[in-house]
Amino acid sequence: WRMRAGHGGVEGGDAAPMLVVFDDITQTRLTERMRVDFVANASHELRTPLATLTGFIETLQGPAAEDEPARRRFLDIMAREASRMSRLIDDLLSLSRIELDKHVRPVAVLDLNGVIGDVGKTLAMRLEADERMLIIEEATPLPPVIGDRDQVLQVLHNLISNALKYGRSGTPITVTAKGEPAGGGALAVVRLCVSDVSEGIPVEHLPRLTERFYRVDSLRSRRMGGTGLGLAIVKHIVERHRGRLEIESRPGEGTKVSFTLPQAKSAA
Ligand code: ADP
Repeated sequence: WRMRAGHGGVEGGDAAPMLVVFDDITQTRLTERMRVDFVANASHELRTPLATLTGFIETLQGPAAEDEPARRRFLDIMAREASRMSRLIDDLLSLSRIELDKHVRPVAVLDLNGVIGDVGKTLAMRLEADERMLIIEEATPLPPVIGDRDQVLQVLHNLISNALKYGRSGTPITVTAKGEPAGGGALAVVRLCVSDVSEGIPVEHLPRLTERFYRVDSLRSRRMGGTGLGLAIVKHIVERHRGRLEIESRPGEGTKVSFTLPQAKSAA
């Protein structure tokens, strides 16, 4: 809180009343703080792969110039770091685009039938490489929702990708989708849910997972090619759709992330 004090407009007399105005600047400060932190974090995230790249360039220019096996190994690492930077920039751009129109409600009617399968196809190679099966259980037909197709695809992509990164190799990833009727003041929605089999996430981390760059295990996330922005993007997209995001995890069993989208009829 900030208190502004001044004299009121009563003329004459010593006992002019004080005018006290309270502005709630806590939120403004917090937002400013978050922006500063975000820029600092983003710069740090970009600087790390850049430092690796610079180091290897120097090595290749000097001691490793004539060492062919080392040269090849270093180039592989450099390619990986460069693609990490490019993923990070893609995610940063997605996040700022979503934020820009976070108050603009999507209006398009979206047919979800087949959408999960489409996302599965884009991840087919990664699924196969880790011997993972994508099990899709969707009610047919799924009721149409109000949503932005690209953004809904991005949410599913990020969630299935997380199940791939943090789930146990060889275990299935299950994606379910079904309509939920209106009731108790709630609109009719379609609920989509991605579950994996893994060691799960300790409960104290759950409330912070959607913060930008928050990771339970930084080393592991980086090793798996994570940017730390996937769930922040998911949260913003779901909020923009007036949906609900829920993350549930059971240590030793796995994680289940679900989100809702308003059915087209109920939102009309
Ligand atoms: P990242 O790029 O690091 O995966 P996210 O924003 O997608 O970033 O997720 C934030 C963190 O939440 C991850 O680093 C990981 O620690 C945790 N996490 C997300 N999804 C899962 C999951 N399905 N199982 C276990 N941990 C998860």
